[in-house]
Amino acid sequence: MREFAYRRATDVPAALALVDAEPEARWLGGGTNLVDLMKSGVERPALLVDVRELPLDRIEDTPEGGLRIGATVTNSDLAADPRVRLRYPALTQAVLAGASGQLRNMATVGGNLLQRTRCGYFTDAAAPCNKRTPGSGCAAVHGEHRNHAILGASAHCVAVHPSDMAVALAAFDAVVTYETLDGPGQLALEDFYRPVGDTPHLETALPVGALVTGVTLPPAPVAAHSRYRKVRERASYAFAIGSLAAALDVRDGTVHDVRLALGAVASRPWRARAAEAALTGGPATAEAFAAAADAELAAARPLADNGYKITLLRNLVTAVLTELTEEAAR
Ligand code: SF4
Repeated sequence: MREFAYRRATDVPAALALVDAEPEARWLGGGTNLVDLMKSGVERPALLVDVRELPLDRIEDTPEGGLRIGATVTNSDLAADPRVRLRYPALTQAVLAGASGQLRNMATVGGNLLQRTRCGYFTDAAAPCNKRTPGSGCAAVHGEHRNHAILGASAHCVAVHPSDMAVALAAFDAVVTYETLDGPGQLALEDFYRPVGDTPHLETALPVGALVTGVTLPPAPVAAHSRYRKVRERASYAFAIGSLAAALDVRDGTVHDVRLALGAVASRPWRARAAEAALTGGPATAEAFAAAADAELAAARPLADNGYKITLLRNLVTAVLTELTEEAAR
């Protein structure tokens, strides 16, 4: 591991100044991903700026009726918050589906958004990987890629984003806020992650040196009737091979409002807008749910060994929306 300096920031301007002065600085939240990457040599920062004592650890109501979640709120505190559990239950379920209790106690909301892919070639310094070493190639395209992307990928990288939390945030139109030395900014979560293209090493649209300060959830009555379902190869402590955040408002058998986001299918949480458009105003039936999933997954471009994800996601969408419909009828 490369020798590095460590500084603990206590206010945002000082934190920004520290990172501005060192081009090879990294933000340190819970460290549950970054420290592993430093041990394997994938990340080699000269300076870690610890943000955990910044005043960004609150979950607050917004005047509009949504929630503002600070970037250093831990995953455990986010999942346990009564307002999150009541108004956005899929978010609580998504957070609790990730990692382990110990890791959730350390991991932060900002760090969760910024975590790196778990593609095995990315963490193998001997393998070609355009995300780790731009221009070196992608070992996964013709290698081990059962868990890789079927949507939005490119020949340069087929990795998926590992977050469960971000999938639920995408379904609820979350907005990421940040600070820079030039002032504050914000990005809709859908615009937060850059398209893969031929630059998979550039993962977010954040300005250089920006500090993520939080996430704002707009009010969304439909979110109170939501669910996160994660499919993985073992019952706990595993990344998804496919996941779904879904919210549904059914009135008299007709879909009044619906939110759908898919996980473990792309380099970012995949908001399923084609499926939402197919469903809105139509019948809340298993046939309609399956057809909507097909509409979304028509854009899928699977690799040799991950075509199973199309069937998996179709079944996931159909099953979860059917469950939410049945619950609404009780
Ligand atoms: Fe690297 Fe992306 Fe290819 Fe994995 S899929 S080896 S992260 S370029």
